[in-house]
Amino acid sequence: MSASRGLAVRWVVAEAATPYRTDTQVEQAHEVAVSLAAGRARVILPLARVAAAVVSSKAHREFGYARLEDFCRERHGRGSRWIRDLAVLQGHFEAMPSLAAAVLGDDGGAPLHVSAAMAIGAMAGTESVDRWIALPRTGKASWALRLAGSSLERLQRLTEMAGTGDARALDRQLGELLRLQNVLELRLGEVLREMGEMKGWGRLGFEDAGHYAERVLSMSRTAAEDRLWVAAAIRPFALVRQAYERGELTWEAVRSVLRLLQGTDGSDLEGQRAWIGHGRACTVKRLRDEAKAGRRAAVLGRHSGRPMTDDAWHASLRREPGTAAQRMAGFGARLVSDAERQTVKRRMDEEPLRLRLPGDVAHDLMRAVRARFDVVRRMVREVPEFEPWPDPEAPASALVTRTFSTRGWRPPLWVGLLGLLEDCVALWDPVEANVGGPDRRELLARSGYRCSAPGCTGRDNLQDHHLRFRSAGGGPELTNRESLCVFHHQRGIHGGLASARGVAPLGVTWRLGRGAVGGRFRNEKRV
Ligand SMILES: [Zn+2]
Repeated sequence: MSASRGLAVRWVVAEAATPYRTDTQVEQAHEVAVSLAAGRARVILPLARVAAAVVSSKAHREFGYARLEDFCRERHGRGSRWIRDLAVLQGHFEAMPSLAAAVLGDDGGAPLHVSAAMAIGAMAGTESVDRWIALPRTGKASWALRLAGSSLERLQRLTEMAGTGDARALDRQLGELLRLQNVLELRLGEVLREMGEMKGWGRLGFEDAGHYAERVLSMSRTAAEDRLWVAAAIRPFALVRQAYERGELTWEAVRSVLRLLQGTDGSDLEGQRAWIGHGRACTVKRLRDEAKAGRRAAVLGRHSGRPMTDDAWHASLRREPGTAAQRMAGFGARLVSDAERQTVKRRMDEEPLRLRLPGDVAHDLMRAVRARFDVVRRMVREVPEFEPWPDPEAPASALVTRTFSTRGWRPPLWVGLLGLLEDCVALWDPVEANVGGPDRRELLARSGYRCSAPGCTGRDNLQDHHLRFRSAGGGPELTNRESLCVFHHQRGIHGGLASARGVAPLGVTWRLGRGAVGGRFRNEKRV
């Protein structure tokens, strides 16, 4: 990350070492949290400007990324929704300057919740904006901006140049602002964790941290919960924390590293150093691959807890047509025998499945789950209980439902979700998929049906690329071939935004962006 060292916030929660015990201490922590949130809100104005410029200029392509999402995740450790929301917010700020002042708290009120500002921007005309702003704001005015004292001037300068310049300038601005944001948010997470430990939510009249963050801190519930999780997870790992504060690990990278470190001992400094080095070198794409492989290995009791070698990582990507169907069948068989066992002992062990989704998506998902649940139940009822079940090869959703209903139990709703998963796998991962000849089949299996460009998560319309061009005498052997998405094949390699040289699969060096501005990589590692 190209963050400048000039923007360090030298500020520490001085009381962090001693636990708060009284209401006064909760009150103090509350004021610290409010001031941190206000500092965070202040960074949002220039961030929104940069975000809008990045989105409209498609700056990600100059850096060799097919998608804004991949650029944000790999270079800045944030999701694409994050940058798109900020760009929309910038549009609102331009249309309604008083909204920007309200987000900052410059109009004398507490900073306005950013998502509230989004909603206001979407609803209000310019003439009614002041009335809308007054609605969601409660609480006292923030004294907090003082906290970022030493950096306010710098922030002022950044704000003036935010959103101007070429792709490189925008990338630099984004990096610098995010490093500040990350430090503020890390502290905020720590203060929230302490407030939780002091049972501060009840004392202050809130249900939980999310409720508090939404109402007081200009922060969404999920953002607050994520910060809390990091603050708790990073606690035993002092070196990781330091690397994150210095901007050596981005938000996404630090979360991946913390997931990979879970269950290990913070006193193993060598282990921490290994993961920090790995986290700095690897793309988030690879870190996530390793986390996934690690979870699979852990189930089998074979997780080493150390970064993977290139060979092991690459082997973990492999998937044949029908791999998902096979895993699904194994999982289904387990559920069927669980249902047998549990209905016999007349007690059901349930583990809650928690998904965090946007409201409308959650609503649609639950509707689909219920509809699928009804379909399975109707289908199972067609066979009277005293008759033997005709199809032992039936999907697990049907067999589980049958087991529950013949024993007088109401089938659980998750059967609907299971049915949806079975449908999805059957449709999208048929064993007999027609993916081309044996070479192409192997090429795709080897790359895990994914574009091989660094950081690229594209899976659609994968094309076959010859590393040494056919026009230059390159042969058809698999060591000379890579599967690439359309962007990386045509606009990337053949359009000058990327290059790939070497011997596939593990000896290919990539250059991303015009003039390698996006860096050089091999096996999803910076070189
Ligand atoms: Zn790609």
